[in-house]
Amino acid sequence: MRIALFDECRVGIVVGTTIHDVTEVIDERWRGTPYATTDLIERWDVLQGPLEDALGRAQQRALADVRLLAPLPRPRQLLAAPANYHAHVEEMSGSRFAPSNAQALQSPREAGFFVKAAGSISGPADPIELPDLPGRTFHHEVELGLVIGKAARAVARQDAHRHIFGYVCVLDITLRVDGEHQEGRTLRKSFETFTPLGPVIVTADEIPDDEDVDLRLWVNDELRQEANTRDLLVGVDELLERASRVVTLHPGDVYATGTPDGVGPIVPGDTVRAVVGGVGELTLPVVQRGW
Ligand code: MN
Repeated sequence: MRIALFDECRVGIVVGTTIHDVTEVIDERWRGTPYATTDLIERWDVLQGPLEDALGRAQQRALADVRLLAPLPRPRQLLAAPANYHAHVEEMSGSRFAPSNAQALQSPREAGFFVKAAGSISGPADPIELPDLPGRTFHHEVELGLVIGKAARAVARQDAHRHIFGYVCVLDITLRVDGEHQEGRTLRKSFETFTPLGPVIVTADEIPDDEDVDLRLWVNDELRQEANTRDLLVGVDELLERASRVVTLHPGDVYATGTPDGVGPIVPGDTVRAVVGGVGELTLPVVQRGW
């Protein structure tokens, strides 16, 4: 099932090019709010029946006629894996963007996760806005995002998948350090619109193996990133095991699993197209931020 948030925070199920409005199943407290999809995820076990009923009588709209929002605009936590593909570690470690801090290119096994400000999330209809920082470089990173279903605290590796509700296409837009600037990772990845999400959450049953998912990203018509999640250094189970020993992961939390090699610069005027196989596709213009 492909779950979207649209227009005034309505909840829809996407089937082909149609969206079925199932907002009525959302608890009144959260209906029409950025927390509507979180409510659906949190109460998924009891809402499956009502959701089927609602689908049968749902108002249908053409996908092209609605404005899709980030499917999880305000997760409680937005975690991300650093340096989780060998070829990406290689390309970064020799480059002028290599952080002076040697720990910065450690995998999630050594370094754990990092946190992006949840306010950096934007939706499939929002441009990527680059702040006015002359001479600086901004990179694209396409990633498979995990959406947490059941709360996860100290989960064992073999149980980790029980806590995954579904998947989402994530971009982890990044301001790179250089010889003169060494801002912290949190700041560099937290500018508003630096975490495009969507266009939908795909439930886990639709992705038979999350470590066999193709990732591709184009800037304009140039293919920049092409990889598969089988090359993750630290797999999905271990990412969740390790993170859940640090903090409880909550329904609707998002964990971006890291980007493969091929990262490169984006500038205003570019169009970024990211495809996470079976999960989703984002096509976003890059603009100069107006504030
Ligand atoms: Mn990343």
